[in-house]
Order: sequence, then structure tokens, then C-alpha cells
Amino acid sequence: MIEPPTLATTRLDHIEANLAAIRGRVGHRQVLAAVKADAYGHGAVEVARRIEATQAADVLGVATVAEGVELRQAGIGLPILKLSVARGPEVWEALAHDLQLVVVDEASCDEAAAAAAGVGRQAVVHLKVDTGMRRIGCEPAAAVGLAMRIDATPGLRLAGLMSHLPISDSPSGDEFTTAQIARFAGVAADVEAARGPLLKHLANSGGVLAHPASWFDLVRPGVMIYGSYPDPACPRTLPLLPGLEWRSRVVFTKPVAAGETVSYGRTWTAPRDTWIATVPIGYGDGFSRALSNRGRMLIGGRSYPIAGRVCMDQTMLDLGPEPTVAVGDEVVVVGSSGDEQITVAELAALMGTITYEVTCLINRRVARAYR
Ligand SMILES: *Cc1c(COP(=O)(O)O)cnc(C)c1O
Repeated sequence: MIEPPTLATTRLDHIEANLAAIRGRVGHRQVLAAVKADAYGHGAVEVARRIEATQAADVLGVATVAEGVELRQAGIGLPILKLSVARGPEVWEALAHDLQLVVVDEASCDEAAAAAAGVGRQAVVHLKVDTGMRRIGCEPAAAVGLAMRIDATPGLRLAGLMSHLPISDSPSGDEFTTAQIARFAGVAADVEAARGPLLKHLANSGGVLAHPASWFDLVRPGVMIYGSYPDPACPRTLPLLPGLEWRSRVVFTKPVAAGETVSYGRTWTAPRDTWIATVPIGYGDGFSRALSNRGRMLIGGRSYPIAGRVCMDQTMLDLGPEPTVAVGDEVVVVGSSGDEQITVAELAALMGTITYEVTCLINRRVARAYR
């Protein structure tokens, strides 16, 4: 097949290096690599294959049963933890594909036990305690009782105790996070006193980067694997390499006279006679319309601003008065060109969102390559 103009390249080599850096930082602890949401838009199957082949992580984390099934059907053998709680028939589906489960209350334990009996396989479960996220998890005071109940239930094996940190990525939340870590350590001590040791895990990327006390026995990095810090304010205690490059090619150039407008809504007026390049990428690819008149792209090591609205399939750039760009020239949407670089973080800031969403938005229409 001929290479399409717009191509997102996942840098598996960089993802592997980022995981190696995390391993170097957390020492003997296990690493769960979050590959939910198609590996944050980077391609879950390819990322998981690389992780498995290089032993870059010990466990994979998904959000939905379908995400776990996709990895199993691709032949992934690593332990896979479904990070969100499963309910109803999907519990059976998860067990049938050897996914580990998160349990949060008596009902989720009972469902896991029933599925274990039905599928004929032990259910490996992690008990989630809510220490401050207020999303899912049992109250801290209920943890010991639930753990004992799991131990007493045939077909269930309690493999871990976990919780989640809502503001580990920002120094403004350090006090809250420190208190949460202490709360989790207290619950863990109670549970372990009652029934013996188990795998304790709490740290997301912010925890890995900024809170060594949150590492416990396993860390659960996500966004940092893909080369982004979880928040612009997060301490950059580890160097990260970008997990994604996004490129396109110029398909049209033309001169536009001073006073003419470009694109829908006529929101951009040429301040002088100038040249315009058209690039075949738009919000239909997941390149956000919020970047209209705000974003930029790189061609031949130079930066060119987006002129006018980002369309569904095309975006225009202001090249300036000299026709220095030609049809077919490579356009960098995310990545480096000469000394210039556009990061996912730059796009996120312009869009008023987080890096996580920028890469998740890149959709099925965009051709993919893996390096
Ligand atoms: C997604 C997720 C993570 C990873 O979070 P990042 O902020 O991307 O590091 C960790 N733990 C749980 C429970 C998650 O759902």
C-alpha cells in the first residue's frame, strides 16, 4: 500500500525507554503499564506486544473487558488487570479471557465468585479502597471485612489492595496526596494484619514522578509511558521521550491577497499578500477544531501558524510572503523538524485540555505506523 499523507507513528522504542526509566526509578517494584483507551491512542496491541517481548512491564491495565479481550486475541499472555469495576455478564467475559478484576463491594465479590464457578477458573481480584478520589472503591473502614470475605469465598483469590490518587501530579495537592498515602498505608496494615501480605498499589504517573512513598509494591504509570507529564506543574524527575509522531504532507499551495479570508466562518484575514498551504488533516482525524487560528505546524524546520478554522478534513497554514513550501513537503503536526518541536503538551495547552485527551482523540481514519 502507498503511504497515506497523514500518518501517526508510535515510537515503540521511546515507550520501551520510558518504561525502562520508570523501572530504574522504582527499583524492585512491579510495573503495571496502563494500555487502556488503545494505549492512550498509541495502539494497544502493538504497545502490549512490545512490552511483552521486552519485559518492559509486569502487568497491563485496561479499562473495559473488550480492551482486555483484544489483547488476549492478539496473543498477549501478560497478566491483565481491568482497572474499572466489572458488573453483570461482563464479569464472566472477563474471567473467560483471564482478566484480573477490581472488586469494590460485596456485590462485585459475589459476581466474581459466581463467574469463577461458572467459567471454571479462579478469579484473581484486587480490592479497591477509596482514599480520596471518590470514584470507585470501598470505604477504608470496610476493607478488612471485604478482604476476609474474599479469602473465605471459594473461587476468589485476593491478589492486591489498591487505591487511586486524584492530585498526585500537582504540587498544589501534595498535602492531600501525603494524607492519602498515609490513609492507604493504614488500611493496608490493617488488612495485612488480618490475613497476611498482599500486593499493594497506589501510584499513577504523578505518584511515580513526585511521591516515592506511594510506590508500595507495584506502580501503575500511564501517560508518562507515552512521553507526557501528567500535568505541566508535575516535577520532571524522569526524562521522557515522546511516544508519538504525527505527520502529513502539503497537498496545495496558493497566493492569497491582503484582505482575503481563509476557511469557514472567514475568521482569518490575510494581513498582507501571503502564501497559504493546505494540509490534509482536520478534526475528522482528531486534530481538534479548538486549534483554529491558534495552533501551528512545522515544515522544513520552520513553524507556520494555522490560518482560519480547522476543517473536518483539511487545515490551512500561513506560509508568509515567500513561496518556500511545495506540494508534497512533509508537515510535522506533532514531533520535530530541524530545531523546532511540537509536543502533545503544546497542543493540550492550546486546546485547554490535558495531554491524555490529545492522543486519545486521534482516530481510526489516521493511518498508523510503529517504530
Ligand atoms: C489510568 C489509570 C492509571 C494511569 O494513570 P496516569 O495518570 O495515566 O499515569 C493508574 N491507575 C488507574 C486505576 C487508572 O485507571
